[in-house]
Amino acid sequence: MPFELKPLPYAEDALAPVISATTISFHYGKHHRGYVNKLNKAVEGSDDESKSLEQLINSASGSLFNNAAQVWNHDFYWHSLTPQGGGQPAGELGEAIKQAFGSVDSFRHSFADAAKSHFGSGWAWLVADKNGALSIVHTSDADNPLRQGLTPILTLDVWEHAYYLDYQNARAKYVDQCIDRLLNWDHAAACYSAHSA
Ligand code: MN
Repeated sequence: MPFELKPLPYAEDALAPVISATTISFHYGKHHRGYVNKLNKAVEGSDDESKSLEQLINSASGSLFNNAAQVWNHDFYWHSLTPQGGGQPAGELGEAIKQAFGSVDSFRHSFADAAKSHFGSGWAWLVADKNGALSIVHTSDADNPLRQGLTPILTLDVWEHAYYLDYQNARAKYVDQCIDRLLNWDHAAACYSAHSA
């Protein structure tokens, strides 16, 4: 099995009450695991077995792309959140956010708006371009900004499976709570530094 279900960076109940242990248990244990299992089945016995997730994201299509991207997206999502997150981005990333959005509050507003207004299943992203300039994009289904040459810095999953058990149809409440209380600025700063190094 070339692709593994990477461990969650925290306990299943660590994001409660914003995201319940029940949601994480289904989201990680069923949905994320399902993408890993389907990906392993799809690459079995083919040249794709030796490719990285990033290589598959850039070259594959159809269900092979969907499952590879969803494995990558979920690994990145778990690290984009952390218990006792939220707060302010520091250092180089904090400066770049002020440059791109005017203020951290303005970033929060635009990021929340992208996540709330995205139609259907998908993802909201903070991304950096090749020059380190930041912007917000949203993608449908499994799509990932790596395909547009952009580097993900933060993401929020807005598929219904991410919030429906806790918030039913109130996606906006899930989005606001995650941004205020769970965003992992340390991980985002590390992604931004690695990108600009
Ligand atoms: Mn998901």
